[in-house]
Amino acid sequence: MSSDNAPTAAGSTGEAPSTSGRAAARAPEPDGAFTGVWSTGATRTDDGALAVAGADLRAVAAEHGTPAYVVDEQDVRARSRAFATAFGEAFTTEAGLAGADVYYAGKAFLSVAVARWVHEEGLGIDASTAGELAVALRAGVPGEAIGLHGNNKSDDELRTAVDHGVGRIVVDSLPEVERVAAIAAEAGSVAQVMVRVTTGVHAGGHEFIATAHEDQKFGLSLAAGTARKAVDEILAADSLELVGLHSHIGSQILDLAGFEAAARAVLRLRAEIADATGHLMPEVDLGGGYGIRYTDEDALPPTPDQIAERLATVVRAACAELGPRPPRISIEPGRSVVGPAGLTLYTVGTVKDVALDGGATRAYVSVDGGMSDNIRPALYGAAYTAALANRRSAAPDVTARVVGKHCESGDIVVHDVALPGDVHAGDLLAVPATGAYGRSMASTYNLVPRPPVLAASDGSVRVIVRRETLEDVLGLDVG
Ligand SMILES: *Cc1c(COP(=O)(O)O)cnc(C)c1O
Repeated sequence: MSSDNAPTAAGSTGEAPSTSGRAAARAPEPDGAFTGVWSTGATRTDDGALAVAGADLRAVAAEHGTPAYVVDEQDVRARSRAFATAFGEAFTTEAGLAGADVYYAGKAFLSVAVARWVHEEGLGIDASTAGELAVALRAGVPGEAIGLHGNNKSDDELRTAVDHGVGRIVVDSLPEVERVAAIAAEAGSVAQVMVRVTTGVHAGGHEFIATAHEDQKFGLSLAAGTARKAVDEILAADSLELVGLHSHIGSQILDLAGFEAAARAVLRLRAEIADATGHLMPEVDLGGGYGIRYTDEDALPPTPDQIAERLATVVRAACAELGPRPPRISIEPGRSVVGPAGLTLYTVGTVKDVALDGGATRAYVSVDGGMSDNIRPALYGAAYTAALANRRSAAPDVTARVVGKHCESGDIVVHDVALPGDVHAGDLLAVPATGAYGRSMASTYNLVPRPPVLAASDGSVRVIVRRETLEDVLGLDVG
């Protein structure tokens, strides 16, 4: 697992639970909790259907079809605001610190509407490709509130960033230093850059590990000295301004100790560079990766207040010990802003009882989507849960596996969940916590068009990304 948003510790997502020994659990009911698996605006109607922000999912399915992603707009806004407020309040000058910025990591899910929501709530946007950059710019997010990441940015991507005055280009390799310098010089401008440092800290789930060397593609090594070399080259380039150091240690992290260790390592490097060169970088970015709950077996994630408080404490202590005044801090949450805000709504098709060793049976409940709209179970063994969305049922539970319609036996949406035994074709199923890395990692595998994204607010939904059609799919085929 080497993706930048892969849960980085083995088993951190709750690897496919086996049915032996433990009965599958029903999905928890929506309860409005910020740390629940459902968005804060999810409820049950009096007659037992699920609703998001007052929009009854039966009506949503009837009007827009399934599968569909439903995202709770006020929930995304509230999570954005919670991060902006928590970091704003924890990193004040009165607290001996120098302020903080929150950048939403757009790769979790980016559309023009979502970029506007998070920006209106005070967040910048992290982009990692021309596509993400284009969406942020179309949403009206100014260049100075955008960051550009990536281990293999194209010249076009770098030129677009320079032309739009992107506030921070996060340099990821030594050759990139020269390329950004040349592109900025050609444009007659000075590009603001950060250096992505690999500190040796990897985190995920409930633990972190620190190693001296990292066998992965991102960043410049602290231990091997390439981060330091990049800094020297940037300082020597007239068309580059070095604004800070950057660290991103992993994803779906529930224990904050890894962030603390990485923060100390990056702050130490900043102090050493200031001693050696006289250049004290004004900023340090501590990355994203805060975990969320996918099922109620996941540990409670830290709240934005708790994260801000812990990081502020570490930054204050490290700077006091090391000497230089504290930098402005930035963070880049993605999953924790949009993940819990979204669910996927499916219609049940085939239901099949499959005999297991030992005489038990498992109900295979097929839905009208699958690994094309949620690749995470197949890619990471990620665990989800699911609940009937169109009605309540008092039927005794069966152990179920929710599967898709694709031509792979690994096309699993939920490995193990208790569903009412009367679940049948035509029922609606909702899978919570799919707001991040669902639509953004969707494919058209088996030439299944990708589902729409519907924003729920004030009792109704509106389409923010329309459903892909067979005409869209056929339109690409010019053979
Ligand atoms: C993926 C990524 C993030 C966001 O990660 P989440 O786990 O979604 O919070 C932040 N920064 C960088 C550099 C990333 O690659």
